[in-house]
Amino acid sequence: MLGGSPKELRPRNRALVLREVLKSGSISRTKLAAETGLSGTAITRITRELIDLRLLEESEKTPREGVPGRKRTQLTLTSGGPFVIGIGIQATDASLVLANLRGEIWHRLTIPPEIIADFEQRAVEILLLADDLLRKFAITLEEIAGIGVAVAGAVDPERGFVASAPPLGWSNVPVQSILSRHFDRPISVENLNNALIAAEHQFGVGQDRSNLMLFRVSYSIGAAFIVERNVVRGMSFGAGQVGHMPVAGASDLCSCGAHGCFNTVASGLAVLADYLDEPYHQVAAADAGTNTSKFLKMLEDSCAGNTRAQRALFRVGEQLGEILKSFTMAFQPELILLSGQVGRNPHFIDGVRSATDAETRDGGLRFDRVAVTSMSVAQGAVSQALSRFVFSEDLAIRSMPRMRSVDDSKTPKSMAAGR
Ligand SMILES: [Zn+2]
Repeated sequence: MLGGSPKELRPRNRALVLREVLKSGSISRTKLAAETGLSGTAITRITRELIDLRLLEESEKTPREGVPGRKRTQLTLTSGGPFVIGIGIQATDASLVLANLRGEIWHRLTIPPEIIADFEQRAVEILLLADDLLRKFAITLEEIAGIGVAVAGAVDPERGFVASAPPLGWSNVPVQSILSRHFDRPISVENLNNALIAAEHQFGVGQDRSNLMLFRVSYSIGAAFIVERNVVRGMSFGAGQVGHMPVAGASDLCSCGAHGCFNTVASGLAVLADYLDEPYHQVAAADAGTNTSKFLKMLEDSCAGNTRAQRALFRVGEQLGEILKSFTMAFQPELILLSGQVGRNPHFIDGVRSATDAETRDGGLRFDRVAVTSMSVAQGAVSQALSRFVFSEDLAIRSMPRMRSVDDSKTPKSMAAGR
């Protein structure tokens, strides 16, 4: 039994109940009591409070025809608000999404790259986009439980500060305080790979696991690690930025000036170099816009049956599989997650499988410990906001909107971005 006074236990029990409803999707009060270990009285009180705050809603579950029994009241997370906003920022694209407490995306919009390039001066324009979006759905600011921002860079999440983000050209950007100047809701900032791994750990395939690794293979490669249930951040918040890590046996010249970086053997650009049969440094030195379109075309070609593209993806997947063996020996993860446009590609995954299937030594990597996540960066940002501001002991109950009449005009316009 956990200690603490009833007042101290309250936020903890509230978070426990919310998380259980999220996990079940739909659950009765009786089952909720059984699953959480809380008394029936406590469940009645907490669920009443959460219904008043519009975090939970009730529905009647009718027994199947021919099956005896009476109607049962089920509890679910509300589908129509409060909401969170997720902002995903990476070099290749940036987007803003509006999502409900179930993590369902109501709307997604693209943030123009010129705003990201001049973030400190033009961040207010992102919030104007958010404002327009709220107006469109007739949502008030008070209905936003918080904003999650996931950035491709080294992030101090305590201060909401991006120490460095070379792909974005950012250095020492106080993202949280800049956005707070224009938007009066709680804001959380996190590295995007850390946001993704935390989302899978809390709400996805990594639930109930203590040690996880995530490798996001896209144009370049990035990673995130959860060790003993904690995200590893490193001395300068740069843990997981593995793209320029030296790889034994690799010798190609990297864009950073060093030889044999991880990016030169296992990134999307490495796949492109293999596909074009050109040296890595030559491909990396080409114009970014041209490379991006060639890279996307190559991925399309692989899906359309182009065996040359498929083989390039397979070979680079094998390279990643080889390197993952070392990480596995070092960290002993229960699960390795692959993410990103390349990381999700079936031919690339086959390559990883081919390298890891033969592994037999104790503590080595077996492919059954590899899983693929299709969660987008913006969805990672949504999960981060939900985890930080809703499914948390820090749930800011006083700032949550109270019960009011339901507006039927509010319905999701776009759920297409589901997982
Ligand atoms: Zn490098």
